[in-house]
Amino acid sequence: MHQPGEMREFTLSVPLREKWGEGMIAVPAGAEIEMDVRLESVHEGILVTADLATTAEGECSRCLREMTEGVEVEFQELFAYSGDEAADFEVQDDHVDLEIPVRDAIVLSLPFQPVCQPDCPGLDPITGERLAAQPDERASAPIDPRWAALQGLTDQATGTTGSESRNTEES
Ligand SMILES: [Zn+2]
Repeated sequence: MHQPGEMREFTLSVPLREKWGEGMIAVPAGAEIEMDVRLESVHEGILVTADLATTAEGECSRCLREMTEGVEVEFQELFAYSGDEAADFEVQDDHVDLEIPVRDAIVLSLPFQPVCQPDCPGLDPITGERLAAQPDERASAPIDPRWAALQGLTDQATGTTGSESRNTEES
């Protein structure tokens, strides 16, 4: 505090008390957040640089299989001394509370549509079964799960069956 140029580094591992994230993939309660943290004293306050690593759990957005995904993210935040109105974070009682910036960095890095593998072909929009992970035209451009239901509606409207409409697409 108030000694610009001083620096300290810490390696921490903190278990989560509650789940972080509300999407298809989240960091579950009990997961460890691994942190390499550097605290630098600067004129305005304490500059925090942190490398974070943990593991998220959830479901593949295409095939709905359970999956885990490593999360690695870093952030840098200035914790200003009290009285600096412009700062998002303040040094309070000689401490920097990293929970909010750590949580924000991790939650914002979670994928909105996680996939178990980059070319996961997902579910057949007609049968709902998992498609085999073999390279064909449909696998390279899988139908977004949000549109899959609409695909079923157009099939009904035109009175075609799933296999007929698929033949039409390929011809
Ligand atoms: Zn998948």
